[in-house]
Amino acid sequence: MKTRMTILLAGLAPLAFIAQAADITNAMIENAAKDTKNVLSFGMGTQGQRYSTLTQINTKTVGQLVPAWSFSFGGEKQRGQESQPIIANGKMFVTASYSRIFAIDLKTGNKLWKYEHRLPEAIMPCCDVVNRGAAVYGNLVIFGTLDAQLVALDQNTGKIVWKEKVDDYAAGYSMTAAPLIAKGVLITGVSGGEFGIVGRVEGRNPLTGELLWTRPTVEGHMGYKYDKDGKAIEAGVTGTVNKSWPGELWKTGGASTWMGGTYDPVTGLAYFGTGNPAPWNSHLRPGDNLYSSSTLALDPTTGQIKWAYQSTPNDSWDFDGANEFVTFDMNGKRYGGKADRNGFFYVIDAKTGQLQNAFPFVNKITWASGIDLKTGRPNFIAANRPSDPTKGDGKKGSTVFAAPAFLGAKNQMPMAYSPQTGLFYVPANEWGMEIWNEPITYKKGGAYLGAGFTIKPLNDDYIGALRAVDPKTGKIVWENKNSAPLWGGVMTTAGGLVFYGTPEGYLKAVDAKSGKELWKFQTGSGVVAPPVTWEDGGVQYVAVVSGWGGAVPLWGGEVAKKVNFLEQGGSVWVFKLATKI
Ligand code: CA
Repeated sequence: MKTRMTILLAGLAPLAFIAQAADITNAMIENAAKDTKNVLSFGMGTQGQRYSTLTQINTKTVGQLVPAWSFSFGGEKQRGQESQPIIANGKMFVTASYSRIFAIDLKTGNKLWKYEHRLPEAIMPCCDVVNRGAAVYGNLVIFGTLDAQLVALDQNTGKIVWKEKVDDYAAGYSMTAAPLIAKGVLITGVSGGEFGIVGRVEGRNPLTGELLWTRPTVEGHMGYKYDKDGKAIEAGVTGTVNKSWPGELWKTGGASTWMGGTYDPVTGLAYFGTGNPAPWNSHLRPGDNLYSSSTLALDPTTGQIKWAYQSTPNDSWDFDGANEFVTFDMNGKRYGGKADRNGFFYVIDAKTGQLQNAFPFVNKITWASGIDLKTGRPNFIAANRPSDPTKGDGKKGSTVFAAPAFLGAKNQMPMAYSPQTGLFYVPANEWGMEIWNEPITYKKGGAYLGAGFTIKPLNDDYIGALRAVDPKTGKIVWENKNSAPLWGGVMTTAGGLVFYGTPEGYLKAVDAKSGKELWKFQTGSGVVAPPVTWEDGGVQYVAVVSGWGGAVPLWGGEVAKKVNFLEQGGSVWVFKLATKI
């Protein structure tokens, strides 16, 4: 009997070990939004709702939330930290500024390994040396770097398993977004819209890095699929050459896919937003400039564009349409919500791309009076478009005051959606800018704007506002104003809570129904990253990265001066309830 028991246990031990370090499968990722023990994708589920069904931390208990552990990213690289941690197999994988990634033991907060990507001197990130997170698949953790490479590391050792160059950093390409896994395909975009790069979405085998397909987001460029030997096979031109772009401009047309994408297992589509058309001076490129400032729905296995919706045709204000498209159920149908940089919140049929509704989520919008729901096009206010410099002295067009500012009614900070309240929680900013156009010609590796600008606050007492938005009515149900611009993401839970961070350093929890503040904690530096939550051994945890930086201190003009007292940092905080409920 004893012998049999020993044999049984000996037989079980390796099995238990394998179960603990389970390979991440496509099925696990498709189910990630419901998996309370892990956070397997950016967006807490590829749909990007950032909603957790966990309830241990709730409106009644959240006051007892205390730190469990904190971990410093160390070094002299304390710049903007916009990363969302991934929780898998008892480990936290968290990226940091300057293309670093750490693996941390979830229970103890001890460092397991770190990987510091060796970056060339001449990298060209437009908006700080940030990274927003990693993807996990198989036994790998995969992230994009500031020199436009993808790196896949062994989850247990941090050793490189594969590494692929995506594009030429010297031409302005970089990567800051978390990769997406959809239908077992690793799907990524590129950053660099301020340098006249050509945006695209790519699909790869996540286990090998092998390229499967590539789909440019600027009309006129050829898409490709790749055979087993890596040979490129033409897969059709995106749109029609010169239909929405004059002359040669499409060859440097921007439309970067710098925020990455979402994927909805219900529709089977991946959704990628695209950035501004390049250059900023819109008079150089009359036409709609497809598919800049748009939402694209793609087949994850082929890269085929199933539908596209352009929020800002012939953009003149750097209104990147890169924001996340978050799918949700409403009136028995599947829709996507998108809080666009241009100040309008769009509700779009997730299967067909048909516009259902569009309404402002900020108080001041000067470039358009509204969105025509029949045509889907904005009603432009022509007088508020910065003028053509060639019509004046040839050096500088007229200056207009425009709102929102180019940093957006919303920028990279992801919103959340609660199926419990039916509300979106949108980190919005109220600011404007003086903007004017200048002549510009493309030069590889040079800024390709043809515009000048100064960002200004619109109100004395606040810039940021966390807003609860009802997608059915377009109404703002509640708002919490914030002195500094909001730049961190949002999370909501079945505990009736909304969590979000502020540049002033706080992680806050508020009532999802009313916005009433229930808890806050000073993390020591500004929070410009989205929180996550998971459970382990019957205990619910919340984590957020802290470290002020990003685009505001670099490009914020008068707003940057207003918040220049904020200190940099680089750490991740983990919280749990002081007493077990
Ligand atoms: Ca841009």
